[in-house]
Amino acid sequence: MPSMLDAVVVGAGPNGLTAAVELARRGFSVALFEAKGTVGGGSRTEELTLPGFRHDPCAAAHPLGVNSPAFRGMPLDRYGLEWLHPELPMAHPFPDGTAAVLARSVAETAASFGPRDAGAYRRLVEPFLPKWDRLLRDFMSLPATALPRDPVALARFGLAGLPPSTWLTRRFRDDRAKALISGLVAHVIAPLNGFATGAVGLVFALAAHAAGWPVARGGSQAIADALAAYLKDLGGAVHTDYEVKRLDDLPPARAYVFDTSPAALARIAGLGRYYDGYRYGAGVFKIDYALDGPVPWTAQEARRAGTVQIGSSSAEIGTALHAASRAGRAPEKPFLITVQPGVVDPSRAPEGKHVFWAYGHVPNGWDGDLTDAIERQLERFAPGFRDLVLARATAGPPQLAVRNANYVGGDIACGAAAGLQLLLRPKLSLSPYTTPHPAVFLCSSATPPGPGVHGMSGHNAARAVWRRLRRA
Ligand SMILES: Cc1cc2nc3c(=O)[nH]c(=O)nc-3n(C[C@H](O)[C@H](O)[C@H](O)COP(=O)(O)OP(=O)(O)OC[C@H]3O[C@@H](n4cnc5c(N)ncnc54)[C@H](O)[C@@H]3O)c2cc1C
Repeated sequence: MPSMLDAVVVGAGPNGLTAAVELARRGFSVALFEAKGTVGGGSRTEELTLPGFRHDPCAAAHPLGVNSPAFRGMPLDRYGLEWLHPELPMAHPFPDGTAAVLARSVAETAASFGPRDAGAYRRLVEPFLPKWDRLLRDFMSLPATALPRDPVALARFGLAGLPPSTWLTRRFRDDRAKALISGLVAHVIAPLNGFATGAVGLVFALAAHAAGWPVARGGSQAIADALAAYLKDLGGAVHTDYEVKRLDDLPPARAYVFDTSPAALARIAGLGRYYDGYRYGAGVFKIDYALDGPVPWTAQEARRAGTVQIGSSSAEIGTALHAASRAGRAPEKPFLITVQPGVVDPSRAPEGKHVFWAYGHVPNGWDGDLTDAIERQLERFAPGFRDLVLARATAGPPQLAVRNANYVGGDIACGAAAGLQLLLRPKLSLSPYTTPHPAVFLCSSATPPGPGVHGMSGHNAARAVWRRLRRA
């Protein structure tokens, strides 16, 4: 290791790894320090239940990863990353046994909303698709210091997306499209009537049409492992089992880049109350299942989808989100996001068996048990589900916060996605990656574009770092 490194990165989540890679590939010397025994953060795979069952304890479905401009700019396939696409990216079943779907094809998706809403859906998404690559790059670089690549498309997207999702769903007459889009907004734990939540729904839908919602072959660990292997080939060093508590724990460097929560960064770097205004949001209660067979969904579409949303109506989803984020109680009928990688990746479990996960939202720091409520919801849409359970691993907010210090109070988005904080995080600033300390930077999902395995916060932060290093 040189006596003075160019950059030290703290935290080997997708954003920390991406920041380290972006700096190393530009010739800077980089070392990365991770508290846990393996790299990955929210992109890990572990045998959480029984031998041979490979679970993703956090992220499993990757609409943002496969679409990510940062990941697309790296040769991650050479380091073992392979995206596997389920026949349907996502399905949203209803109690009558039918389902709306988010398919690769706009026409198939629109048809699943019924004849009264098919045209409205096509008119909503089709204008954006030809410009998707530039649009996504512009959106994921906000608040941009550089000029948008396509300011007209971005402005049009802003007109549709900046109002609350409840405005966006007013275009639809029936509840099928409304429920599916409300569920998409809930992926970032945003209130349905919140500022810019329309954009969240649109990004997830457009991502499905543009590039799908794949899983990574073998599990999400493959994404982190590919990033770490690429980093090492570029000369970067990776140290695990190394929790950073103070800046003095780190070797001398010209820049320190933190893939941590703002609260942890303030503590470690002595930034005082700088991030005191930053709010953390609702937590989640997650269950990883080892199953004796595939989930027996009543709706056939759900049997072909990688991700399945469970919420019988937009109202039920809104009520569940409100209970967890505003009313401070666990929802009676939680809205569930579930992922079944086995529909496309048999390597996750012994022959004929499956891994499956589901989570619902609960108040920040909640320490109850949501297992029964989650399984009652699953039984509504997949009768007989409980009979297939071989083993389950549950994790509520306290356990999630132990798994990863960034999940403050079980908030897997590392900060509430509500109000302006959805887009402008961790503070109202045009340079959210810099801090009052000139050598200290933040690159976690507490910075734009926010939660998800996409590496774009790390990519954007690395840009701020190399500009500063080159100026110096
Ligand atoms: C249950 C669950 C389901 C999810 N599902 C999806 C999904 O399907 N698709 C998707 O795209 N996203 C999903 N996410 C969100 C996604 O995992 C995160 O948004 C993403 O991992 C954030 O990346 P990050 O690099 O900012 O931080 P993280 O991935 O959280 O990584 C931070 C890393 O920093 C380390 N660290 C923290 N403090 C220190 C310290 N002081 N010293 C050293 N190391 C430290 C942590 O150990 C961790 O490894 C899910 C998350 C959870 C928990």
